[in-house]
Amino acid sequence: MTPPPKTFHVKSFGCQMNVYDGERMGELMAAEGMTATADADAADLVVLNTCHIRERATEKVYSDIGRIRKNARVQGREPMIAVAGCVAQAEGAEIVARAKVDVVVGPQAYHNLPGLVARAASGAPVLDTDMPAESKFGALPRRRRVGPSAFLTVQEGCDKFCTYCVVPYTRGAEVSRRMAAIVDEAKALVDAGAREITLLGQNVNGWRDADRNGLEALIHALDRIEGLARIRYTTSHPNDMTDGLIEAHVSVEKLMPFLHLPVQAGSDRVLKAMNRSHTRDGYLRLIERIRAARPDIALSGDFIVGFPGETDAEFEETLSLVDAVGYAQAFSFKYSPRPGTPAAAMDGAVPAQVMDERLQRLQAALNRDQAAFNAASLGRTCTVLIERKGKLPGQMLGKSPWLQSVHLMTDAGVGDLVEVEVVRADPNSLAGVERVRAAA
Ligand code: SF4
Repeated sequence: MTPPPKTFHVKSFGCQMNVYDGERMGELMAAEGMTATADADAADLVVLNTCHIRERATEKVYSDIGRIRKNARVQGREPMIAVAGCVAQAEGAEIVARAKVDVVVGPQAYHNLPGLVARAASGAPVLDTDMPAESKFGALPRRRRVGPSAFLTVQEGCDKFCTYCVVPYTRGAEVSRRMAAIVDEAKALVDAGAREITLLGQNVNGWRDADRNGLEALIHALDRIEGLARIRYTTSHPNDMTDGLIEAHVSVEKLMPFLHLPVQAGSDRVLKAMNRSHTRDGYLRLIERIRAARPDIALSGDFIVGFPGETDAEFEETLSLVDAVGYAQAFSFKYSPRPGTPAAAMDGAVPAQVMDERLQRLQAALNRDQAAFNAASLGRTCTVLIERKGKLPGQMLGKSPWLQSVHLMTDAGVGDLVEVEVVRADPNSLAGVERVRAAA
């Protein structure tokens, strides 16, 4: 029998949805009277909110657990450990058996975390990786304290089954939260201090309301919330990028001119092997339509190099697609097999050295385009949402509408919107001078 924990620490890995889930788990435990601590080595309960996307994610979880236990032993303590997130869903009982953790909870069951912790405190480890039909969201407490830029999960799961991806297995089928619940949560976030909300979903633009209206219907509803200044959404699939959603980028001023639209590869053969269900040409034509509607939109993407069987010529097609699009920013990775996915059983593994070379070339091209996008901002005036203090006295950091980091000297506070003239453009950030303070 372990005494019930009084303090907790949540460590989230991976994507923004995990960040959101980690915040919600923290709110659940705070509602039970536990106190958050920033020091994992001082907490009575450590929650590792895991991600299965990166290579060796599972090993990383086991080594983290070992390190936490070792540090605690030195202090004569024995904290409870809970493993949440996608590794918990994928590994389940294996984690309990191998690492002797107290709680394993999947991404669709974390609303049960306080109850699971209470049960584990009275003895045996507990496991909950159910994917219940009832949404967890109704069981979560009202949002009370957030920063100026907040995440809001509106959709979970994915039906696309890209052959390299574990999400359809760890997060389940696509489920959209109801519009009324999302609007309520958005209002609570604004009351709690948010000026910008990023709508999250594994396939966010697959969100549908009860009448099958698309994400633009939700965006129009959120547009009416007083005090909310900015709306963003991520991650989108090209096939769900509808005319209505593109039009929202024109008609909804609060919807920021930024779109994360992964393509993964530039070769039709590789896209087919990935089961991406779109072609290179279809993607490029979609980009043309989006840019015709909203010429200043900043595009972001995801890329995988070295997918099984990818030839030099096919990789060149990825580079030429990058040249054709001109991304403002992007994420790129070497392919690594995820156990249980179809791609993990494919022949044609690309040698590590070839993958390294391809990744370097791709990243050089993406960095070049990001630097060019930032350089084009020089002399431009834009609104910056102040998010936090900078390193220098009087310096604040914020984001431009195009999701660029901007630093400036100002007496504006966190959450203020400031009109800024961009006076310096670096590859990863901009420097600005304050011109006008927008009305609060
Ligand atoms: S669309 Fe995205 S989340 Fe869905 S299977 Fe493909 S990569 Fe995974």
